[in-house]
Amino acid sequence: MRAALPDLIEPALLAEKGARLDGRVALGQMERLTPLIASEPGEAWVELAFSIDAEGLRTVHGRVRAEVALRCQRCLQPVPVAIDSEFHLAVVTSVTEERRLHGGLEPIDCSAGPVATARLVEDEILLGLPLVASHPDAGCNDMMARWQGKKDVAAENPFSVLRNWQDKRRDD
Ligand SMILES: [Zn+2]
Repeated sequence: MRAALPDLIEPALLAEKGARLDGRVALGQMERLTPLIASEPGEAWVELAFSIDAEGLRTVHGRVRAEVALRCQRCLQPVPVAIDSEFHLAVVTSVTEERRLHGGLEPIDCSAGPVATARLVEDEILLGLPLVASHPDAGCNDMMARWQGKKDVAAENPFSVLRNWQDKRRDD
């Protein structure tokens, strides 16, 4: 069994060492993610490779894998969703540095010192989630959706918050 990743990491230092980390991160500590999960939050498996690229940028290339149950938007029963996302980040400590990033690299703000590993991983999981989760037609108990009324489902949809956040992150 792989160990848990450290709670805090210093991407700039790790990049200078060319470090690689892999391990588990508990989903239960992710405050934006847990309201979206329809079962006990499990764990994510995370791989992080730190390096300095040809332009001197301190980069983090990573992969996060997790299995979560979201709420089906038709029948409200849990629907399993597999997340497998790769990401490419570069350490920035100012807006000026952030503006200099070239395509394909997302900023990781290290201006306040060490970075919370769970927060970094949570960002990538949220970006990898589908905006609407539902069972395939054959597996969906949508009788229940008719009973409860589709209006209620839409009103309580926590994904509207997620959608706004994803849009903002992609615009940045
Ligand atoms: Zn369903």
